[in-house]
Amino acid sequence: MAQPFDVVVIGAGPGGYIAAIRAAQLGLKVACIDDWKNASGGPAPGGTCTNVGCIPSKALLQSSENYEQAAHHFADHGIGVGELTLDLKKMLARKDAVVKQNNDGIVYLFKKNKVAFFHGRGSFAKAAGGGYEIAVAGAANETLSATHVIVATGSSPRQLPGVAFDEDRILSNDGALRIPGVPKTLGVVGSGVIGLEMGSVWRRLGADVTILEALPGLLGMADEAVAKEALKVFTKQGLKLQFGVKISEVKSTKKGVTVAYADAKGAAATLEVERLIVSIGRVPHTAGLGVEAVGLKLDERGAIVADEECRTNLPNVWAIGDVVRGPMLAHKAEEEGVAVAERIAGQHGHVDFNTVPWVIYTSPEIAWVGQTEAQLRAAGRPYKAGQFPFMANGRARALGDTTGFVKFVADAKTDEILGVHIIGPFASELISEAVVAMSFRASSEDIARICHAHPSLSEATREAALAVDKRTLNL
Ligand SMILES: Cc1cc2nc3c(=O)[nH]c(=O)nc-3n(C[C@H](O)[C@H](O)[C@H](O)COP(=O)(O)OP(=O)(O)OC[C@H]3O[C@@H](n4cnc5c(N)ncnc54)[C@H](O)[C@@H]3O)c2cc1C
Repeated sequence: MAQPFDVVVIGAGPGGYIAAIRAAQLGLKVACIDDWKNASGGPAPGGTCTNVGCIPSKALLQSSENYEQAAHHFADHGIGVGELTLDLKKMLARKDAVVKQNNDGIVYLFKKNKVAFFHGRGSFAKAAGGGYEIAVAGAANETLSATHVIVATGSSPRQLPGVAFDEDRILSNDGALRIPGVPKTLGVVGSGVIGLEMGSVWRRLGADVTILEALPGLLGMADEAVAKEALKVFTKQGLKLQFGVKISEVKSTKKGVTVAYADAKGAAATLEVERLIVSIGRVPHTAGLGVEAVGLKLDERGAIVADEECRTNLPNVWAIGDVVRGPMLAHKAEEEGVAVAERIAGQHGHVDFNTVPWVIYTSPEIAWVGQTEAQLRAAGRPYKAGQFPFMANGRARALGDTTGFVKFVADAKTDEILGVHIIGPFASELISEAVVAMSFRASSEDIARICHAHPSLSEATREAALAVDKRTLNL
């Protein structure tokens, strides 16, 4: 006899676990199924984000940044550290402990909200009684029945054609987060968010890092001036970036990996490295989900077809997060999870896709929300822009981190903020003000007239807003 639920969520990444909690808060009887296993085979809810994504990468970015600060920047503050040592094993263990705290936190939240958690693989068995039967293959095999199903099965790393991840020499994000010793040489294929973050971690710890990118330049989706500044700073830091590269062969040897490629001019080249991270994007994960059993529709990329409200082609089957269209970001998955739970409960869930922020946690950090100047030019929308450098910000000087700037882009006529682009210290935190402003459809003058604490990095945000009207006070 199938255990009955109002809502069964498949996947406990940021999309799924948040959807489950919100649905339970709204009084629905909820189950959440997730198959991620920790090192001892036990459950590890939190998905890619918690286990091999956002959380462990940020833990290592922080540890490696601390190391770099101690090695190269503490002396500027008059601090000597004697002989600097690196205990990589301890650094990786700390990262694992941070992951576990997050796994445990989700287990606690499920208990608190009375979400029934099933550890195992969930798949559609059949449509039944106006709902669906979901089979769980795990320690115990169970069948659940659901009125509504939310699919939140996430994504997996894309491999180079014919080059499988062995997580020893050829690494996905998973292996890249647990290299047992700092490699002398490290190759990275792909200069997207993951490639830049992982490349930065291992460069700071001492690896000679070369990044090969197929596209003609860095961060094509970011503001042009931000991308230009980022390239300048990353190159100065020692990341070797090559663009317009076409890879022909990747060979794993006992000593390392050899990558044969044509450079931007078409000349044949090879890269010999100890290890290679392949970060060329991610693919929606639907393997083993039993989509064919119920006729759930996928698109040509393998993503579940879902509309703006996350409705699939099947009644009462919803899909959210990385497994559907849109940016593969944890907070986008969470927003969709909350909105779907609210729609199921008869409320008007809403996600504003125009105000989903992007963040790259390199040093300097990069963050933006809304449209770039290039996008506005292409759309023929008149705009005005204002920019303010951290070099002229007192807090940034005190921090010793004056790289970068804040840029506002606003409608030429109404002054409504259309985009905010930041490269610099704590851009990940500063972007929130822009997200709030855009969510309330604020003008740049609104931000310019709001009191910002002194001395704070947020004053650079206000000054950039003032710059839209060419009236900065500190430049
Ligand atoms: C290295 C790295 C760093 C990242 N950093 C950031 C960042 O800083 N900020 C950010 O916003 N995003 C970041 N991301 C992206 C972010 O991790 C994803 O966008 C996010 O995890 C998507 O959430 P999700 O809930 O859709 O899926 P996932 O987190 O992938 O979770 C899906 C879960 O479903 C499980 N599952 C799949 N199929 C089944 C099944 N049939 N039965 C049971 N369980 C199943 C999976 O095992 C997994 O646990 C990063 C990604 C990587 C790889």
